[in-house]
Amino acid sequence: MKVVITGAAGFLGSHLVERFIRAGYDVIGIDNLITGSSQNVAHIESSNFKFLEHNVIESIPVEEKVDGILHFASPASPIDFDKIPLEIMDVNSVGTRNCLEFARKRGIRFFMASTSEVYGDPLVHPQNEEYFGNVNPRGIRSVYDESKRFSEAMIYAYKRFYDVDVRVVRIFNTYGPRMRPDDGRVIPTFIRQAIQEKPITVFGDGKQTRSFCYVDDLIEGIFRLYHSDYSNPVNIGNPIEYTILELVQELEEVFGKSLQLDFKPLPQNDPLRRKPDITKAGDLLKWKPEIPLKEGLRKVVKWFKKTEVEY
Ligand code: UDP
Repeated sequence: MKVVITGAAGFLGSHLVERFIRAGYDVIGIDNLITGSSQNVAHIESSNFKFLEHNVIESIPVEEKVDGILHFASPASPIDFDKIPLEIMDVNSVGTRNCLEFARKRGIRFFMASTSEVYGDPLVHPQNEEYFGNVNPRGIRSVYDESKRFSEAMIYAYKRFYDVDVRVVRIFNTYGPRMRPDDGRVIPTFIRQAIQEKPITVFGDGKQTRSFCYVDDLIEGIFRLYHSDYSNPVNIGNPIEYTILELVQELEEVFGKSLQLDFKPLPQNDPLRRKPDITKAGDLLKWKPEIPLKEGLRKVVKWFKKTEVEY
């Protein structure tokens, strides 16, 4: 069995490559390295893995027979929304379409990494898959939110019109090794600041919530969804909700010291609450997250220190 994974050198993509290889698959990974790093896949045995440095908005440069394509190419950090907005919109529109066409022509499975961002700043809590969301179509986050929503619209058009075999995961906040220390997302940022003994930049009053899933848990859910026969979107994430200030407290326990805070303005349209309803994932995939936040944070801190990532 062989699959194509776009975004293979990214944080999630590289963990997914490993999961498929562990299950006996061969993997062709594609990445243009705009936010990914070839270091993330440098350790993977070349007998099972082929890496192509390429932008999927141009084409999917694969001739050989494969059984599926998983589209994980997309910058996903809010700091990228300002820096590379058009690249984000391209990869989730033209890029998604190229992957769908590839799947349609070959009659193979297509899997999309969608996001909890499709729910925007949600008015329904926790968010289940039936909720349509509350997204500002022209705010700074819209380049990501709306392009992922566009991807979903196109995926289900391909399903209805061409009967393409599709799977869609809506990924909630995830953390783990291989996040870039300068990624901008809250967990790598706070860990980097704590290691460097700098103040922790809390946005707003720190009472906004997120629900953080350790990467291994998320990847297991994705792997099961890929192999399921369910074609509608499925939330995968950890339903235990923390305020940003509670996250700081967890880190204080992990580091064994109190951390100094530096309050900054809350960015535009930053969702105030987010927590997945994972009933569907439980029923369909017999999946639930296993790794508690503190244990996951310890692993990431260890990884940041061990890899001596340059700050
Ligand atoms: N956040 C923060 N300080 C930072 C980075 C993020 O307080 O240095 C907050 C941010 O305002 C948001 C939450 O942490 O409410 C999660 O942000 P992240 O960028 O990780 O992802 P998001 O869920 O917003 O896409």
